[in-house]
Amino acid sequence: MTQKQASLLTRSRRLLRRLVDRPASVDLTRYEALLPAVGAREQDLLELTDAELTGAATALRDSDGARPTPTDEQLVEICAIGREAGRRALGERAFDVQLLGVMGLLTGRVIQMATGEGKTLVGAIAAAGHALRGRHVHVISVNDYLARRDARWMRPVLDLFGVSVDWVEPGHGRAERARAYGCEVTYGSVSEIGFDLLRDRLATLTADVVQRTPDVAVVDEADSVLVDEARVPLVMAGSVASGAPDTEAARIVSRLRPGLHYETDADGRNAWLTPAGTSVVEKALGGVDLYSEAGSRRLAAINVALHAHVLLTRDVDYLVRDDKVQLINTSRGRVAELQRWPDGLQTAVEAKEQVPPSDQGEILDSVTVQGMLARYPTVSGMTGTAVAVAETLREFYKLEIAVIPPNEPNIRLDAADRVFATRADKFRAVVAEVQRVHAGGRPVLIGTQDVAESEELAGKLARAGLDCVVLNARNDAEEAEIIAEAGTKGAITVSTQMAGRGTDIKLGGSHGTTDDYEQVVELGGLYVIGTARYRSSRLDDQLRGRAGRQGDPGGSIFFACLNDEVVLAGAPDVPGNPPTDDNGEVTSPAISRHIDHAQRVTEAANLEIHRNTWRYTRLIERQRDDLLGYREEVLRGERATELLRSRCPQRFAELDAVLDGAARDRVCREILLFHLDELWSRHLAVLADVRESIHLRALGRETPIDEFHRAAIPEFHAIYPEAERLAEATFAEITVEEGGADLAGAGVRRPTSTWTYVVHDNPFDSDAEQALKKVRGTLRKRRG
Ligand code: ADP
Ligand code: MG
Repeated sequence: MTQKQASLLTRSRRLLRRLVDRPASVDLTRYEALLPAVGAREQDLLELTDAELTGAATALRDSDGARPTPTDEQLVEICAIGREAGRRALGERAFDVQLLGVMGLLTGRVIQMATGEGKTLVGAIAAAGHALRGRHVHVISVNDYLARRDARWMRPVLDLFGVSVDWVEPGHGRAERARAYGCEVTYGSVSEIGFDLLRDRLATLTADVVQRTPDVAVVDEADSVLVDEARVPLVMAGSVASGAPDTEAARIVSRLRPGLHYETDADGRNAWLTPAGTSVVEKALGGVDLYSEAGSRRLAAINVALHAHVLLTRDVDYLVRDDKVQLINTSRGRVAELQRWPDGLQTAVEAKEQVPPSDQGEILDSVTVQGMLARYPTVSGMTGTAVAVAETLREFYKLEIAVIPPNEPNIRLDAADRVFATRADKFRAVVAEVQRVHAGGRPVLIGTQDVAESEELAGKLARAGLDCVVLNARNDAEEAEIIAEAGTKGAITVSTQMAGRGTDIKLGGSHGTTDDYEQVVELGGLYVIGTARYRSSRLDDQLRGRAGRQGDPGGSIFFACLNDEVVLAGAPDVPGNPPTDDNGEVTSPAISRHIDHAQRVTEAANLEIHRNTWRYTRLIERQRDDLLGYREEVLRGERATELLRSRCPQRFAELDAVLDGAARDRVCREILLFHLDELWSRHLAVLADVRESIHLRALGRETPIDEFHRAAIPEFHAIYPEAERLAEATFAEITVEEGGADLAGAGVRRPTSTWTYVVHDNPFDSDAEQALKKVRGTLRKRRG
């Protein structure tokens, strides 16, 4: 065989493997071919002084930045400078695979690179590459700690590129933010960048706007940001006097009796009135027909009150502290400061606990991660687990993924799942396994489902004489320090899936010697135990990926039982009575197929929920874009002045006489923007109502989304003429004094305070239920 034939064969084998293993990924062969040129250029760059290296980067600035993706020559130059800059600034010379990652990011892909492969450096080099071509880049991370860490860590590299960099975090004021966003590369968490976007969208002075229009998003941990967080909108609200709480509904509901007046389903996610309950409620309300069109609002109120009363438990789901209802984030096990339930439910719980209604205020504006990312002409991302969400990324973000091979082959040993009949059997086996592995000093990392389970397990381990460290999700920075030591000899670390993410686990400890490292290698590296399969295989893989970094040895195993959440949610009906041994371990091999199946059902249901949310938010976000276009013209142009000049010429002349041109334009702008923003906020409230009532009425013939559109579109189009009409009326009313106009007197009052929060997933989301049913139904049909 000639060399050419051999390489052709290798190439086609590789292609075939790609088609079989990872059908959704982009072919990187083209970029691999550029690597020798990078190597050659590296030799020249080695000779340069730092200033000359920066000069080489600056030379790229003159090249054609208008093209959305760099040319091959530009890719080579960016990678070569990046490799040299990383070597000088951090002592880390980027591996070939990292440069492939850089090229993937520069061409707008989501790259999959395993944990520990060095994605932080990859992201920074790509960000610099974009910046040199005149594009403003946001590097978006999952939390504030990582944004700060990465910006500081990568600054010396970006300095050598001559590219400015900064980050935003919650403590920053407006000036600091404006400065950070003024840099060529800005690091920030998804919520900080999102909240700044929301605040900017309501600014009435151009000087208050902190973000400039960004061009490129580089999203770290892209699957969690783009998929997991995408369902949860960021909200900005303004205080208004809180309305009277619906204590009537709470009072009526508190008198109902379970079984007789209402029923709940087995997993405690739904509650409904029985016919007897319905008539009690109808009588208590003075004889309304709850199921008539007119009664639907009352029915909605009774339903949330019932949910609040029956399905949410004080001290489990929430605390009552200082006359306030505070949510407990069950997966993190702590009070979730920035979260609340959707408004109706929040108020209902407050009424139940007889605390004053919180400042629910009105929602001024909201945005989903998806809406937020739609602003960036170029989106790219990086994660250890992209393949599993390839379909979602393509459907919702039109993103393709590129799989980057590891620098050293992965030699981690993943054992088959061990499945038990009961939870007690499972945990006994987990403790025994930790004991066995720990005996020789091999470090063990145990991933649990939530904090409560972490603590339970820690207790069991302690009783077995095993000392462990528990990550309690107190704060991200502290966690990072703890998990960094999980590879130390003899360490036992218990953690939730989310905890300590983004932190590298080095064998032998973060400051260990080569000797420490070698000892742990001898023991087989880090051993990862999962206490249950997660709701997606992607999360399982993330946990496994903690072991076996950069070619290190490592191992992983998952324990499961028939009562695990994922099994109950996805496929609760386990066929037959599976045989078990004396320890309660299921011996029939078919059982792992059943668990895989349950997980696939849950994954499909989540996709369906995402799809459904998107159907609703897409319309709202399009309308918002339209309105923002108009708002921009008002904010930055003469639109308001022109409008009021032509509508009320006389009034305008009076005003013109006492105010200078700029002050007059402020006044006009302020009035029109006020009405515009208020109408938008009202529109959002109406849409929320429409959506809720559509679901409750559950009209058989119409699909809810069509009905939603029918209501939402005319409502929206009425906003512009209405805002202009109201602005005209206000303008006619204002009193003008020496030096200014009394806007407050004419009712132009913005909320006295605003705040931002993340909407907590509705625990009884009817969408979630429907999605799960739909998926189960389809699968059953397919199987049956
Ligand atoms: P990831 O985000 O992919 O999990 P990180 O960016 O956190 O990985 O990097 C993991 C570790 O690898 C860090 O300690 C980093 O300093 C190191 N690293 C990254 N790139 C290189 C390189 N080219 N050479 C040596 N070490 C590197
Ligand atoms: Mg990382």
